[in-house]
Amino acid sequence: MEAKNLRVSRQRLKFSLERMAKIGATDGGGVHRLALSDEDKQARDLFLKWLKELDLTVRVDEMGNIFGKRKGRSPRLPIVLTGSHIDSQPQGGRFDGILGVMGALEVLRTIQENHIETERPVMIVNWTNEEGTRFPPAMAGSGVWTGTLNRDWVYRQADIQGKKLGGELARIGYKGRQPARKWPVHAYYELHIEQGPILEKEGKRIGVPRGILGLNWYDVDIEGKANQVGPTPMEGRNDALCAAAEMILKVNELPGRMGENLVATVGEIHNSPNSRNIIPGRVHFTVDIRSWDDDLSLRAWEELKRDFGRISKKRGCPTILAETWQVEHASFDESLVKRVGETAQRLGFSTHFMVSGAGHDASYVNQVAPAAMIFVPSIGGRSHVEVENTKWEDCEAGANVLLHCVLQSALEK
Ligand SMILES: [Zn+2]
Repeated sequence: MEAKNLRVSRQRLKFSLERMAKIGATDGGGVHRLALSDEDKQARDLFLKWLKELDLTVRVDEMGNIFGKRKGRSPRLPIVLTGSHIDSQPQGGRFDGILGVMGALEVLRTIQENHIETERPVMIVNWTNEEGTRFPPAMAGSGVWTGTLNRDWVYRQADIQGKKLGGELARIGYKGRQPARKWPVHAYYELHIEQGPILEKEGKRIGVPRGILGLNWYDVDIEGKANQVGPTPMEGRNDALCAAAEMILKVNELPGRMGENLVATVGEIHNSPNSRNIIPGRVHFTVDIRSWDDDLSLRAWEELKRDFGRISKKRGCPTILAETWQVEHASFDESLVKRVGETAQRLGFSTHFMVSGAGHDASYVNQVAPAAMIFVPSIGGRSHVEVENTKWEDCEAGANVLLHCVLQSALEK
């Protein structure tokens, strides 16, 4: 068959996704497949088995990133890379990440069964620990591979039980020998669910992100004075949770104050000792600020710092602020973005140019190679939750766009 008439198999893609969704399946219809857990290992084992059936050259690097390479006519030319991540959020969805890995697998299966010869090698990847929910930071596998994160520092990151990432990688048998170090990539494509409501609202099939919003993470620690709730008068209390409550609302009001071009969220909070009998003595919470405009994010944080300072003083609760993680906004490669849009239109799909509010492995890869993403609609805009869903025909559409983008790049001399 001529390359331009190739199409992926919806049935096979659906089967692969449904098979993967069984690993770590939750009662609510989602998956719980945290990075380097037993479920992650099981999914990786299955993925490896499928790669080997395709006769790919498989390697696992020291970060547990899994690569499978299909030969091209010119083995020395920089490769075309495509993939995403197998790990999930706690009680997360069946499409986030895994769609980009199973989509890439479907692309390789389609190319292979039609005996298509490409000029450049095509390689599939599963990046380790994209979610960063068990071991911060997120996108750890691609971050080390691109040289942005230090391998040994990442190895030392611990989960809530104190287990280290490096140890868990070895425990599940995926601490490979290959150095996790970038090599020349001609083009990187990542298929992903939108994780937002825009495509559905616009009635469009394929989202073409121009880039990814900048992301800023902060940690806030408030020190109050714990005491018995009955005998302690209201006056003179140093209630850390009340201080947190005021601060959290400031975070929520921030985008409105800054002119809407950013989003700001407190998603995690720990109250201590968390007893109905005790005035809260300590609170920890996180702040997440995202914008396409990096300066705006920083100005927003400065505003927040002033607010937090005022609240902390008023309530007599000393507060420590930490700047945990910063990633500047990233524009994807213009010619690849254009290709994604044109390819989708040629295949008969409606398209919508947008930006991605979520971080992806593509953000790191984009720093060292031309990269682009393909988005498909999330039903109800819901993601990172068990009800996360995408229509099979949209998964298929996204995989077909991925197929033809990969083919065009892989046929280039
Ligand atoms: Zn993802």
